[in-house]
Amino acid sequence: MMDLSYILNHLGEDRDQYFGAVAPPIIQTSNFALPSVAHLRDAMVSELDHHLYSRGNNPTVEILRKKMAALEQTEDALILSSGAAAMATAVIGLVEKGDHIVCVQHPYSWTRHLLDQFLPRFGVTATFVDGSKMDEIAAAIQPNSRILFLESPNTMTFGIQDLQACAILARQHGLISCIDNSSASPIFQQPARWGIDLVMHSATKYINGHSDVVAGVICGSKTLIRQIFDRAYMVLGPILSPGDAAMILRGLRTLPIRLARSQESSCLIASRLEQHPAVLSVIHPWLDSFPQKELVRLQMAGSGGLFSFLLQTTEPDHIFRFVESLKMFLLAVSWGGHESLVFPIAAVHNLPGKPAPPYPINLVRLYIGLEDPDELWRDLENALSTIPS
Ligand SMILES: *Cc1c(COP(=O)(O)O)cnc(C)c1O
Repeated sequence: MMDLSYILNHLGEDRDQYFGAVAPPIIQTSNFALPSVAHLRDAMVSELDHHLYSRGNNPTVEILRKKMAALEQTEDALILSSGAAAMATAVIGLVEKGDHIVCVQHPYSWTRHLLDQFLPRFGVTATFVDGSKMDEIAAAIQPNSRILFLESPNTMTFGIQDLQACAILARQHGLISCIDNSSASPIFQQPARWGIDLVMHSATKYINGHSDVVAGVICGSKTLIRQIFDRAYMVLGPILSPGDAAMILRGLRTLPIRLARSQESSCLIASRLEQHPAVLSVIHPWLDSFPQKELVRLQMAGSGGLFSFLLQTTEPDHIFRFVESLKMFLLAVSWGGHESLVFPIAAVHNLPGKPAPPYPINLVRLYIGLEDPDELWRDLENALSTIPS
């Protein structure tokens, strides 16, 4: 495996080609001129490996592509315009009409929508299983099953799957194993090391890390990446713009130190919350109280800034006053940036036209960013004091 600092600071950056510039150039072009008909013919045969047209490949995006493949220890990668595009493009590139997908329960909401609303329109079905139970996963596999879709940890309740056991099971039954690795990050978990075939990310989260770009990544073998490129990527057209790729390359330089900071602060705040009388329990993969903690320590090197807790109160008004009293935590979806966030599940109960969320009403998710953790804790304590006991 290549050294982390080499990947983040140098891999894929051919600085001789651009005046020695330290920051990569934004190659803002849709189209590329070829020097001969022979070159044009080569590029037409394999757009992924040539510069022909920026829907297929662009030099700035390609730098990010090489770095992401190296970070996930896979042969190749694709960069996309959102994490949702990464999940959808990968799955659509792999399935046929009549295929079946086994997926863990409570994946990211739009992954769920892809599998239980969108794909059934095209004759592809899915079964959702408790990913902590290997026998439940095995029992859901059918003769037409094609994909095992994992998300470990997921981003509300932090369910963990045994990646090695899942990879072996999938291989035994001829399924392609896929994982949404966004919440672990490529720094804290490399699923390909355990035999998982495809590793996806919402790069909007930790990878960019500054809450100013939406992007996605698919990492895998050259064969699978090529299949997804030929059968879905070129048709759907989800390429990232070169300008956004440059933003993500900048964000990526600091990925390990951002994660280390969020990890340390989130552990500190989670363990203080565990002692607080207004809190019923805390769901944080790195705490001793976490049910799957042995598996976490085996396959992850950290769990990052995201965790949830249950308040003692189930009164929506108390929960809303608590979150609205916070000054350091923005009330928002998403996570993975510099800024701390709060998301109370109670806020999305009884939304018109939306199904009820599969989580308890007193669940509150926090994302701990890069601020001073003591300052964040004072803010939380103050806001918790608004809840009547
Ligand atoms: C945000 C998110 C996505 C979707 O990514 P976008 O970049 O918002 O399209 C997918 N999976 C997880 C776990 C996420 O948190």
